[in-house]
Amino acid sequence: MIRQSIAIIIIFICLSVCSDASINYKVSFPNPASHYISMELEVLDITGDSIDLKMPVWIPGSYMVREFAKNVEGFVPENANKQKLPFRKVDKNTWRIYNGGEKSVVVKYDVYAFELSVRTSFVDMSHAYINGTSVFMYTEAFKSAPSTVTFIPHKNWKLISTGIPASDSSAWIRNAPDYDQLADCPIVIGNQDIISFDYKGIPHHIVMIGNGNYNRDTVRNDFYKIVDVCTQIFGVNPNKDYHFFIHHTNSGGGGLEHMNSSSMITSRNVYANPTAYKGFLSLIAHEYFHLWNVKRIRPLELGPFNYNEEVYTNQLWFFEGFTSFYDDYIVYKSGFYSRKEYLDIVFGNVKTLLNTPGDTIQSLTESSFDAWIKYYRRNENSNNATVSYYTKGGLIAMLLQIDFLAHTNGQKSLDDLMHYLYHEHYLKLNRGLTDEELVAAIETVAGKSYKDFMSQYVTGVQPIPYASFLEKSRNFIC
Ligand SMILES: [Zn+2]
Repeated sequence: MIRQSIAIIIIFICLSVCSDASINYKVSFPNPASHYISMELEVLDITGDSIDLKMPVWIPGSYMVREFAKNVEGFVPENANKQKLPFRKVDKNTWRIYNGGEKSVVVKYDVYAFELSVRTSFVDMSHAYINGTSVFMYTEAFKSAPSTVTFIPHKNWKLISTGIPASDSSAWIRNAPDYDQLADCPIVIGNQDIISFDYKGIPHHIVMIGNGNYNRDTVRNDFYKIVDVCTQIFGVNPNKDYHFFIHHTNSGGGGLEHMNSSSMITSRNVYANPTAYKGFLSLIAHEYFHLWNVKRIRPLELGPFNYNEEVYTNQLWFFEGFTSFYDDYIVYKSGFYSRKEYLDIVFGNVKTLLNTPGDTIQSLTESSFDAWIKYYRRNENSNNATVSYYTKGGLIAMLLQIDFLAHTNGQKSLDDLMHYLYHEHYLKLNRGLTDEELVAAIETVAGKSYKDFMSQYVTGVQPIPYASFLEKSRNFIC
């Protein structure tokens, strides 16, 4: 009886909140030189006397609390008759509006956007670059509701590039099925150079922002090879379209993965330096590989996302580490690195880990869990007390690659594991992996136990015996 009542209540809540609920955003740039974005947000079909609007505290893929609410100003809620409604801040990133039973609310606020990174938003006279988690407010009850976003560009801006699907009527009106997908699609508005190619029916767009010394044909051909090698590993490419957003700057770098796009920052001169360019292609491969490995195959905790606080996982050693192994490997398999260049990179990583005293202090699972307070908040003692889940996780992937090949006489490799995780876990269950399921998948594909391996090198801090693993690789070309 109690169960029935709960079920009825859940159905009622869903009908009253989910059925017609929606949020409409209007995004404009009346004065880009001031670096402000003007936001208007309309919430429809509200039930109750108050509604909480929130700004995320972090952006998925970058495990640090960034307090995006710090850039919000001029918060003004109104009813449908443009009468101001009372509100108050109830914590650092939550605005509570007292709508007094009114079914719709319109909120205006400004966002200061002058931090050019793949995790933040930036506006100047040249363009706008938006990461949704630092611009779009949300309400918990409406996170799964669809939203419409209308962009009003500055008069000098002609183009919009984003993975949010366009409406039938205009490229400037976009429809997101839920908040996760809205927040996961970076947006570039300006006069960007767009280099497009078709990969097996999937349009790919390389969105170049700012001047760079690239050759359009070379970039198109090289990106195509990366896309092809990545897709062959999984056997299927799940996207309807894909955007690479590339900001060119004089210094700095970085990348962030999304479901149907990725953002990168690189030097505007990278294309004429062969060594640096191969490193850049490795970054492209890394973020593209993530569209499968972390955005779809993922830890149980990472999605649907809680934007209100830290989300902890033990598995970044796999999702970032194995992606790090694959980024250079894909560039090698695509024909950009020679065998010697590739092995030099691998042994450079071994050297880096050997010069990390923290490898005997912090395990990979601890490094993953504490990314929020350690990996992303390094200090002068970090090398002594912590280990990178990127570097060591990548080396663990290399050891498993060698061990898979040796144990199966070359019949199974990490590619089989990635293929298995995508098809047997993600596509069939459509949810993330528990820690136990991840290890079970590794053991199933390899056909052997990795209990001791895990307790020694992943959850434990025993030194990696490279020689014994590398001896096994003698018969296999990496
Ligand atoms: Zn990554």
